[in-house]
Amino acid sequence: MLLEKAPELGGTAAKAAFWYWVPNNEPMRAAGLADPEDGFLRYVARLSRPTRYDPDGPTLGVSEHEHAMYKAIYESAFPAAELLNARGALPYRHVPEACDYFSEIPEDAAPRGRVLIHLDAAESMSDGAAQHREHGVVNEKLQYNELAQEFFRWDPQAAEYPNLVMVARWDQRTQDHSAGTEFGVLVPPPGADDSHVVHGSTLAELTGQLRQRPLQPAGRR
Ligand SMILES: Cc1cc2nc3c(=O)[nH]c(=O)nc-3n(C[C@H](O)[C@H](O)[C@H](O)COP(=O)(O)OP(=O)(O)OC[C@H]3O[C@@H](n4cnc5c(N)ncnc54)[C@H](O)[C@@H]3O)c2cc1C
Repeated sequence: MLLEKAPELGGTAAKAAFWYWVPNNEPMRAAGLADPEDGFLRYVARLSRPTRYDPDGPTLGVSEHEHAMYKAIYESAFPAAELLNARGALPYRHVPEACDYFSEIPEDAAPRGRVLIHLDAAESMSDGAAQHREHGVVNEKLQYNELAQEFFRWDPQAAEYPNLVMVARWDQRTQDHSAGTEFGVLVPPPGADDSHVVHGSTLAELTGQLRQRPLQPAGRR
């Protein structure tokens, strides 16, 4: 028996972007992108168990069972992707530009190349820019799970949420490559209502335009 609350089946996957993460996949190897097992295990252990991760431990600080599960992903995700592709069940295309969510940590031995998406997915889902990560204040392209946490950061001294209202800033390259209407993309595509977007061809011009449209954060009057 299948009990489903929603009016249709599919759960969250029915509206997901459907990127899937396949270490050492066939297109990576064809392109000469190395993704050794040891590096993959370290990356996964470091992120799955940040407080237990031990780079010198025989199982990297995680339980033997969990370590074996990481190995199973490394060994079987790639043949599974190839099998599903060959049978026409899940044809994919490679997204070589997409980098891992935490590509900057030293444990990531293969920062780019592990992402596959459905062959027919929209082009805007595969320019790789959506996952680009930088350091600083907050990055609008931070992965969504982490970005959402920034909004709910509590300042215990001031007893307030200082980041409940944040404003995204992007450049022309992002406008050209990452505009879209899917999955909560912030950048409106050409032709869409962008009356909320403030434009400026230089930072100084942008600053001037912003001053003309002062923000009124929720809860602050
Ligand atoms: C916009 C978006 C994009 C995403 N993109 C990706 C991606 O590219 N790659 C990726 O790997 N992941 C992606 N994800 C995440 C991924 O889709 C989810 O993590 C995954 O589908 C969750 O699966 P689940 O089976 O755990 O939960 P769900 O799919 O949420 O399943 C839970 C089901 O339980 C039902 N339910 C809830 N309460 C009851 C109840 N009381 N009685 C009966 N039924 C109930 C719900 O209706 C739902 O169908 C994305 C998610 C979103 C929202």
